[in-house]
Amino acid sequence: MASQRDPMVNRDVALVDYHCHLDLYPDCVRQFAACTQQAIATLAVTTTPRAWTRNKEMAAASAYVRVGLGMHPHLVGTGELDIRLFERLLPESRFVGEIGLDAGPSYYRHYQEQKMLFDQILRLCGAASGKILSIHSVRSAKDVLQGIEQHIAPSKCRAVLHWFTGSSSDARRAVSLGCYFSVNAPMLAKPEIAKFLAVVPKGRLLTETDGPFTLSGTAPARPADVARTVTRLAALLNLDEFECRALLRNNLSALEDWSEIG
Ligand code: MN
Repeated sequence: MASQRDPMVNRDVALVDYHCHLDLYPDCVRQFAACTQQAIATLAVTTTPRAWTRNKEMAAASAYVRVGLGMHPHLVGTGELDIRLFERLLPESRFVGEIGLDAGPSYYRHYQEQKMLFDQILRLCGAASGKILSIHSVRSAKDVLQGIEQHIAPSKCRAVLHWFTGSSSDARRAVSLGCYFSVNAPMLAKPEIAKFLAVVPKGRLLTETDGPFTLSGTAPARPADVARTVTRLAALLNLDEFECRALLRNNLSALEDWSEIG
């Protein structure tokens, strides 16, 4: 598969924000540019395939921003999600997301439709192979992992579980399925993070902001704010900041080099 970017550029990566909705900031063009200027390797996830073309245009000049082709579970039932358009665009993208399941109270009434759609997406990705998927799994870790196991793991695609809140046994199962985890500031502030880090190898960790849906102080988090998450993660892993940045850069390369040959 031809690469859309030189993998060697990862040597220059300062920070990794592997799940950010760059297109949802009012000054989104500036946000794309800031990732490039500050050497932040960013996975710009989208919520609908209709956003794909515009996001690709904004990322075109950047060696740091990757764009995910998305079908967000919160939009199931709104008429915004066109699986045919997703299928048509899929060959153009190595990255898929945000996709996933949400069984929280606000979205549970569409849960069966979410599951059908997620199943279709995973089938398409499994058939295409070589994709990297950023996956939402609120109160649905077991169903998400079952889908991954059935359709894409471990050899067809790689899943990055975003803001994972499953149990330790779910995390262990995810590790065995080859999953990576993008962790953010709210996750690292919770006491349960110690249990999570006890079962997930540090070679499977990436960082994210999920901006603009998380806050840094009182303002929506921006990719550069992932630096605070790295500081906190370094402390939790008993690494110094420099080692933690190198770890994340290496994990990024391992994940994306895999997809080169997947
Ligand atoms: Mn998100």
